[in-house]
Amino acid sequence: MAMTLENGSRVAIIGGGPAGSLCAYFLLTFARRMEMDLAVDIFEPRDFGQPGPGGCNMCGGIVSESLVQALAVEGIELPANVVQRGIDSYVLHTDETAVRIDTPLHERRIAAVHRGGGPRDVSEVTFGGIDGHLMALAQELGAKVVRTRVREVDWQEGLPRVSHGKSSQTYDLLVGAFGVNSAGGQLLEQLGFKDKGPTTTKAYITELNLGHEVINQYFGSSMHVFLLNIPRLDFAAIVPKGEFVTVCLLGRDIDRELVDAFFESQAVKDCFPPSYSPQEGACHCSPRINIREADRPFMDRVVLVGDGGATRLYKDGIGAAYRTAKAAALTAVFSGVSAQDFQKHYLPAYRSIAHDNRYGLVTFAVVHEIKRVRPLIRGTVRMTAREQARSGNTRSMSMVLWDMFTGSSPYRDIFFRTLAPGFVGRLTWESALSLWGNGRKNGAGDARRIAG
Ligand SMILES: Cc1cc2nc3c(=O)[nH]c(=O)nc-3n(C[C@H](O)[C@H](O)[C@H](O)COP(=O)(O)OP(=O)(O)OC[C@H]3O[C@@H](n4cnc5c(N)ncnc54)[C@H](O)[C@@H]3O)c2cc1C
Repeated sequence: MAMTLENGSRVAIIGGGPAGSLCAYFLLTFARRMEMDLAVDIFEPRDFGQPGPGGCNMCGGIVSESLVQALAVEGIELPANVVQRGIDSYVLHTDETAVRIDTPLHERRIAAVHRGGGPRDVSEVTFGGIDGHLMALAQELGAKVVRTRVREVDWQEGLPRVSHGKSSQTYDLLVGAFGVNSAGGQLLEQLGFKDKGPTTTKAYITELNLGHEVINQYFGSSMHVFLLNIPRLDFAAIVPKGEFVTVCLLGRDIDRELVDAFFESQAVKDCFPPSYSPQEGACHCSPRINIREADRPFMDRVVLVGDGGATRLYKDGIGAAYRTAKAAALTAVFSGVSAQDFQKHYLPAYRSIAHDNRYGLVTFAVVHEIKRVRPLIRGTVRMTAREQARSGNTRSMSMVLWDMFTGSSPYRDIFFRTLAPGFVGRLTWESALSLWGNGRKNGAGDARRIAG
């Protein structure tokens, strides 16, 4: 049987998150260009129009500026009812101080979105999540959505077969887009995948209903990023949306103790109205996050895209879903669906994400050390504050932090920029100066003043 897609071929996509819907979108777009009719079924149990866990794929909801641009080039705009807020700056909080960093070109090029119909306690669903939007685009091109969780896959006469309820169907290609928060690994075992799947750890998200007014006053259109000296916490962010803020903690196995330590830190308390304490019972979850890619993301007629394969470390997961989905669709339509085809045409895109994450790991390890050494973290803030106060073009620290926290540049670029002698020299100088100063004075004032 030919290992290519032809007129009338069938594709099953298990998972209708960003990776699954974008893969369907690209498969159908490329097939049209080849004047080929493809039948694409997306299997997805969630209804993304629902608020709360039933419709949500659990994430911070930041769409990086590189992804906003890439999607625009593909003709995919994020409509106003999907973008909860345009982010034009972020505020970096350390244990001692805070500094505001504006977008390099003072544009709102980063979008804050919800993943489903919003948090559990949303008063009224008046917007759409990004997952529902991307799925609708795939449906417009002809993808069929099957509202079910796939529990059984096997092979029949050399073709992958998907069974659900009483029906079963063979396909010419099966795309695994099931992320890392379900038993996708078991499906791979059923198909005979022998290699190691992705390595994951537990993150934490909560959505706090503060109302528009408080959010505008205390958070504005800034994403708030925290580099706090709390063990196991690599990175934390508060992302303002409509009437909610999304609080996101990333690190090694985030547990209750760590969440409490975060909310009890002065830097975090300073962000909220006085005497505010996070609501008990607010919508929250502890999703798993991919921190290392699956060893081999394909076999004959099967390919893994999105989180179930490789994603960017802690950042821009939706961007990685877009890149892997498009690369897999390009390979399947224009080259073929054999393991050899995926090895030759899909693996390079996949490996570039995985390889870049190695630089990300080193960068986060360095940041971890910087957080522990006061003069260094003070020097970082001083250098940033000085750059922001100047109108010149030399904004090396601001750009490094911006790109690192928004996922707008590859980790490799960021890593090499931090090795430049000018960068190291300035950081050393500012760190040395901070030994004689007080962090809060030398920074940029307290968080509320900056964000308000
Ligand atoms: C705490 C946290 C914060 C994050 N913040 C951001 C951020 O701000 N920006 C960003 O770009 N990325 C962020 N990410 C990463 C982002 O969430 C993922 O990279 C992205 O969702 C991956 O998309 P995906 O389609 O591969 O997987 P998912 O979004 O997980 O979608 C998988 C889909 O498959 C479905 N599924 C699973 N199993 C089956 C089955 N057996 N049958 C049928 N369907 C199935 C699920 O219901 C789900 O809809 C964050 C992740 C975490 C954990």
